[in-house]
Amino acid sequence: MSDEAIATRGVVFDGPGRQPSIEELTLDPPQRGEVLVQMAAAGVCHSDLHVVDGEWERPAGVVMGHEGAAWIEQAGERVEGLAAGDLVVLAWTAPCRACEACHRAEPWLCVTPDGSNHRLRPEDQRLRRPSGEPIGAYSGIGTFGEHQVVAASAAIKVDPRTPPEIAALIGCAVTTGIGAIRNTAQVKAGESVVVIGLGGVGLSAVMGAVAQGAHPVTAIDRSPAKLELAVRAGAHRVLLAGEADASAGADHVVECIGMVETVEMAIDLARPGGTITLVGMTPQGLRASFDVYRFVEDGRVIRGSNYGSADPATDFPRIAREYLEGRLPLDLLVEERIGLEQLDEAFAAMRRGDGARRVIVY
Ligand SMILES: [Zn+2]
Ligand SMILES: [Zn+2]
Repeated sequence: MSDEAIATRGVVFDGPGRQPSIEELTLDPPQRGEVLVQMAAAGVCHSDLHVVDGEWERPAGVVMGHEGAAWIEQAGERVEGLAAGDLVVLAWTAPCRACEACHRAEPWLCVTPDGSNHRLRPEDQRLRRPSGEPIGAYSGIGTFGEHQVVAASAAIKVDPRTPPEIAALIGCAVTTGIGAIRNTAQVKAGESVVVIGLGGVGLSAVMGAVAQGAHPVTAIDRSPAKLELAVRAGAHRVLLAGEADASAGADHVVECIGMVETVEMAIDLARPGGTITLVGMTPQGLRASFDVYRFVEDGRVIRGSNYGSADPATDFPRIAREYLEGRLPLDLLVEERIGLEQLDEAFAAMRRGDGARRVIVY
């Protein structure tokens, strides 16, 4: 065990309109209930772009990134079940298991997650700039840093045979998409599903629906290349965005982009009595509308799905196992492996809407 601070590097967000950049940092050792991790891989998620572009209000002075896998390097006091060398998937919310939401078995709504508030409280801060100025870690895990200290409850051990790039994606996109199907919408075998928007989350939703035995599974996007990926993910039918009409009417429609236009499309595409699950996150403050008369007459349901209504402690290892058993073709989500230095290019590609997931490999 070392009590020394270590030297590391990370991509720091200093406020919207300012280009995030790689900085040299020091990281203090883990304290009680915490672990020091060496990042193995980190996915670049659309949520990161919402923060950089100022569409979501988030605190500045944090190492960015909220989707990642890491190896445990050192466990602090009172950490059970984790040891040096373990491969863990990092959860961007680490449920406290004590608040009302946790007691209702809705850990994704936990109001006091461990290491919350992006590690900005002085007692949670472990990272410092060379000047000594403390900085935070986005969602308590800051996966665009080479090392981090995180709450042990945010580090979920998975089968060490899981490739780090895949493990990283389980930390956000995959669990969000598959969880929306299984946990939020509770899709059953034989039900029809339409997935709108085929980024990492939407493609994961397609795989989740196929694994549940849903039929038919229809995938919609404006990019023909993404429709091809959806076919590889197991979709039974693919449609370009302009081609979708109410004939696609399904038991379940799952919206995975977060644009007003596609949210409204999702509501229109559910069959009477059908359920619309909203997964994509819009810029803050946007409102969508729908035809109330038709909505009520048709007895539809709209649900929001945050983090796939999942409990990371059980959902992460289960998804990793299903991948290793060949039941989820998660490899097709990895569009490109990049270095930390190429993050700007990854954001630019995301603004253009190209490709599935870019993953930083450390
Ligand atoms: Zn994400
Ligand atoms: Zn809680």
